Amino acid sequence: MRDTSVDAREASSVPRPAPWPATIAEAAQATLASGRGVLIVLPTNRQVDDVVAALKDALPGEPVARLVADDGPARRYRAFLRVLLGDVRVVVGTRAAAFAPVANLGLAVVFDDGDDRLEEPRAPYPHTRQVLALRADLEEAALLVGGFARTVEAQLLVEQGWAHPVQAPRTVVRAAAPRVLAPSDVDLAREGPAAAARIPPPAWEVARSALERGPVLVQVARAGYLPVVACARCREPARCAACHGPLRLDRPGVAPTCSWCGRHATNWHCPTCGHGALRAARVGSSRTAEELGRAFPSVPVVVSGASGSHGVVETVDDRPRVVVATPGAEPTAAGGYAAALILDAAATTSRPELWASAEALRRWFGAAALVRGAADGGTVMLLGRPAPIPAQALVRWDPAGFATRELGERSELAFPPAVRMASLQGSPRAVRSLLDHLDRFEGLELLGPVEAEDGEVRALLRTPRRSGAELARRLAQASAVRSARKEEGSVRIQVDPPDLW
Ligand SMILES: [Zn+2]
Ligand SMILES: [Zn+2]
Repeated sequence: MRDTSVDAREASSVPRPAPWPATIAEAAQATLASGRGVLIVLPTNRQVDDVVAALKDALPGEPVARLVADDGPARRYRAFLRVLLGDVRVVVGTRAAAFAPVANLGLAVVFDDGDDRLEEPRAPYPHTRQVLALRADLEEAALLVGGFARTVEAQLLVEQGWAHPVQAPRTVVRAAAPRVLAPSDVDLAREGPAAAARIPPPAWEVARSALERGPVLVQVARAGYLPVVACARCREPARCAACHGPLRLDRPGVAPTCSWCGRHATNWHCPTCGHGALRAARVGSSRTAEELGRAFPSVPVVVSGASGSHGVVETVDDRPRVVVATPGAEPTAAGGYAAALILDAAATTSRPELWASAEALRRWFGAAALVRGAADGGTVMLLGRPAPIPAQALVRWDPAGFATRELGERSELAFPPAVRMASLQGSPRAVRSLLDHLDRFEGLELLGPVEAEDGEVRALLRTPRRSGAELARRLAQASAVRSARKEEGSVRIQVDPPDLW
């Protein structure tokens, strides 16, 4: 490994790493050369297409099966058969592809494993990473877990000695990663009253100078115009008179719309103070684009988002433009973005759930990774009061350090994945009877039941990680007893539920 102290000239001569799909294709090539098959699972169709294209470049003439959910059953079945018959040795697909019967599997790959689209929404809720880890064990294959962020679950595989970390030397990371700035409130306060704005003066400066060199990415938390509005006087959130859903504004000058039932709230008045005007409680991508368009009238503004009227834009060229996108919908820029502004950072980090900080960091890395390296002037500015720990991890470009710390904290607090938890939810009677039939064992802890939504209750079972399989087995037995006795009601059982706390 090279020495970590380099001067700027040497750093700029470090070659830019290949894009991640090319790296996966290289690993696939090596596996095929050894005579074994490859299975690659990705969160989105777009990522599947990128990897299929990289495989075509690296392995011309090698047939590749593409298994994605929206291809329809007939097409998927044909692809599945070709894999089963051994006609195709490389499979690339979304979540369900994790079960593809690749003959003589040598390598399984999952990229961006923190994306919740890799979680199976139906019981027994296996995550793609778990399915592939299990297959790698059973079929004696290698498993490659990749991403710009490292999940706490992947870190657990490392700390158990099951997986080895693969990281670029610090010099390469430093040259390839953009410079990241996360100005604190104190830093911004020196700018005067404008510092409190969603886009404060230093951020306008970053955007203005970067637009001379190429496109600028602006990541916003939400799609739409003003996705949440409040009373302009007392700041009470504005709600629908019919269903109490939150009101939003789709365009300037129109009546607000209920986000739940779709009714228009014409002539809205605040039930608390009687005031009739609204203010923005959240600002969406199209309003942000409008503001940026006014500030930079000489460059085009592009909006990309999965929800909302714009749709996802796949790529942009190197010409100066402003690209406003929601997390996960960022177009790639042919030569990298000259800069990125990440707004609304607290929208994710201020959520109470266990996964909030890790998910925020994953979203920020997803945008920051599209920006040119520091040696090429690439700059990222993180704004909107992020929680300090994930913000520092982005500034230092240290996903592994963050994952290590996060896993350490969860071990201390006995949270998954450091322990196994199972959540049991259903009617009070059904949950009670399941708990009665459950054969308890040493080290198993019961929390609750407590009231959940819609008159249901929820109980949590917690056990040391090594007893996870035992807990699953005894829960299955208890369920079998309930169904054999035809006891009424159903209980939803979920292992390591992602929505804890
Ligand atoms: Zn009011
Ligand atoms: Zn409504």
